[in-house]
Amino acid sequence: MDNQEEQNNIEVQPDLYLESPKAFHLEMPPYHNFDLSTKAISRKIYEILSNRATIDAYCIWCEKEGVFRAYNYISDNVSVPPWTKRNNGLIEIEYRCTRDESHAYHTYFFKTGDFFTKVGQFPSVADFQIPQVESYRKILDEEQYKEFTRGIGLSAHGVGIGSFAYLRRVFENLIEEAHVKAQAENKEFKNEDYIKARMDDKIQMVKDYLPDFLVENRSLYAILSKGIHDLSEDECLQYFETVKIGIEQILDEKIIKKEKVDKALKAREAIQKAHGKLANQ
Ligand SMILES: [Zn+2]
Repeated sequence: MDNQEEQNNIEVQPDLYLESPKAFHLEMPPYHNFDLSTKAISRKIYEILSNRATIDAYCIWCEKEGVFRAYNYISDNVSVPPWTKRNNGLIEIEYRCTRDESHAYHTYFFKTGDFFTKVGQFPSVADFQIPQVESYRKILDEEQYKEFTRGIGLSAHGVGIGSFAYLRRVFENLIEEAHVKAQAENKEFKNEDYIKARMDDKIQMVKDYLPDFLVENRSLYAILSKGIHDLSEDECLQYFETVKIGIEQILDEKIIKKEKVDKALKAREAIQKAHGKLANQ
């Protein structure tokens, strides 16, 4: 690769939504746009729009992961010129669930000259993403769950900073829960120090009550705060998936712990019951 080529490659901003047809069609918020005068971007988008392969994605009707087949796509048939001008620049793409063809995701894009944008999606990004976090209901209280899904809903509609604000609240609530526990179970707990401490130190002080993933990745809080104060709408949207996955990891760990405790409790009860029965024989 010569220098000139290398420089051209560096100029191309990586866009998370160009990583896969799934990210492009199902996770990208409406009105996210691209400049097609950059050849690498234009080529990538064309490739995604003409994708005929299947994509793996959650099916909101089957309520589980599924395989979707491209049904409507830009044709690379030689008789149809690239970026067909039919429909006044509107491009419709459709993917159908292989379990049931009536389960279909539709996305719409608009192209004029080098300007390209997503203009619609059905079901919405939020419709697609929220059922996937349904399992966190059992670990979050009603209010926390609402805040978590509101964050997802906002990002799905292209509101970046607001979505970060909701995720930060979810994060802070997890810390506060641990704080309450630490205080209740530990007479030596220095609450005044805790209140004055920065978030990083707070996490250290209550780390025994927090999921390991959170303690190890406490920089997540710094990213969320930076998002709210310093990052642009677009930057927040770009990082949203990363911070959401971070929070999901934390919640997953809590669920596993809770299930283990519940199972142990049930097992203990069953053993005691069996023991009692046998003792009375
Ligand atoms: Zn389905």
